[in-house]
Formats: sequence, structure tokens, C-alpha cells
Amino acid sequence: MSFSIPSSIVVSLDGALLAAMLGLLVGSFCNVVILRIPQMLMQEDTPSDPCPSLSLMQPRSHCPSCLHPLRPQHLIPVFSFFWLKGRCAFCAQAISPRYWKTELMVCAWWVFCAFKFQVLSLLGQSDLAPALFLSQLASALLWAMLGSALICLAQIDWEHQLLPDAITQPFLWLGLLSAHVGLLGLSPKASLLGAVIGYMSFWLVANIYLLLSSREGLGQGDMKLLALLGAWMGPMSLIPLVLLASTSGAVVGLWRLKVSKDLDIHEPIAFGPFLILGAFTLLIIGPHQVLELLALNN
Ligand SMILES: [Zn+2]
Repeated sequence: MSFSIPSSIVVSLDGALLAAMLGLLVGSFCNVVILRIPQMLMQEDTPSDPCPSLSLMQPRSHCPSCLHPLRPQHLIPVFSFFWLKGRCAFCAQAISPRYWKTELMVCAWWVFCAFKFQVLSLLGQSDLAPALFLSQLASALLWAMLGSALICLAQIDWEHQLLPDAITQPFLWLGLLSAHVGLLGLSPKASLLGAVIGYMSFWLVANIYLLLSSREGLGQGDMKLLALLGAWMGPMSLIPLVLLASTSGAVVGLWRLKVSKDLDIHEPIAFGPFLILGAFTLLIIGPHQVLELLALNN
């Protein structure tokens, strides 16, 4: 990973504002992805469905309750929710707070990437070095896009126990390609190794579990997600990543059992959100610091 501490604390506020606005727009698109990709996949499974075909662009955004198409002012990320006091302008049905939360999360991640990759501090300097700036900008954009995709994947998996290939596969290839052109701070070999080891390790665990318990533990989606994360973060990140994910997954699993006592212990729980939570923790704190926190580095 090429994350490093910014050398200067002089940052461009215009740059931060631009990153935040881009983040909000992408966050708004992420809401469409989270809502529609599972619906589109269900539609593919039932080709005889009489409903008109659904895509990310068509039909226009509408209220899920009254189906009234939204006006342009209702599409302004975050603000429209508060302006409409959290209710649909046409039928007054409550709008899920998930929309603005996703927009804010993606927005915060975009600002974080702009800061972390020194885009803001480079913009704040009077003598801007174009080549350095462009390469930092490209890296920041790549990680910002990855984070946005991961936020989508986590929510889709949590709700539907599904990690769509339509998101994991392009981002796996984008990771391998970006490492190849030197934009991830990771060698092409490390990126490829990360992807292969990520996929194979979960494949092995899944098959051993299946053999011992005759139950499916990890799905294909989890293997592809770990391959994707391995391609972006390298093989050395996989151990702290899986440790973080298993720990947080176990804590939430036990908490769920405690809260709802009639829940079956074998009730499956999506693992993707925990892998993604682990990935964000690693990206924000750093793999060494995570290993130290987990007391493995002492
Ligand atoms: Zn409505």
C-alpha cells in the first residue's frame, strides 16, 4: 500500500470541497447500485417477469412507495432528505435514512482519500509539480472508487447475502491493472499473489468446512471478494484482514444470538461486510498498526 503521512498540513479547501461534492454524487449513485443490482439479478433469474426491464439508468429514480418519479431537487444528496424532512414529497411516506448515510459515508471516504494521497496538500502548494500531482490524483481516485464499491458490496451482502460479480469482477481487474501501471504502490507480482492467495485460502477453508460439517460456510462471493482485496492490498494484508473480519464477525454473531434468543446458531450471517470493515480499518490505520493492536507483532 502506498499510504503515507502527508508531508504538509497546508491543504486546499477548494480541493476538499470538490472531493466532498464528488463523493456525495458518487454516494448518490451508490444508492442506486445498492437498490437495483439485486433487483436486476432477480430479474435475470426470472426472464418471464412481465415488469419492464430494469437497469442502473432506467427507469428514472422514483419513490419506492408511490412510484412517483423524483424531481431534480429531490435528487440532491443528503440535503434533499433533510429539506423534505425525511418524507416523500408526493405520498409523505418515510424515506429510509440509509440513503443519506451511504452518501455521507462515501463523501467522507472521498475526502479522506484526497487528504491521504496528498492531493489536497499538493493543491495547497504554490509550486505544483504536475507529474507528481497527476499520479497522486490517479491513486486517490482509484482508492476512492474502490471504497465506494466496497460500501455498496457491504450493504448488498448484509441485506441479500450476495456479493455480485458485476461489482467484484471489474474491481478485481482494476486492482491488477492499476498495480501493473504502478498506481497502487504494490508490485504487479504482489497484486497477483494477493488475488490468488486470497481466493485459494477461502476456497480451501470453505471446502474443509463443507467436508467436516456438510454445510456451506463461505460462498463463492466471499472468495472473489478476498481475491479482490488481495489484488488491491497485497498478500501481506490478508492475515490482518481476515483476523479483523473473523473477530468482528464473531462479536456481531454472538451479539445477534444474545439479542434474539430464538435465532438458530446455524443461521447464516453475511461475511462480506466484516471483510470490508476489516479492509477499511487496514486502509485507515495501516496493517502494521492493526497487527500490533491484535498483539501479533510483539
Ligand atoms: Zn412517495
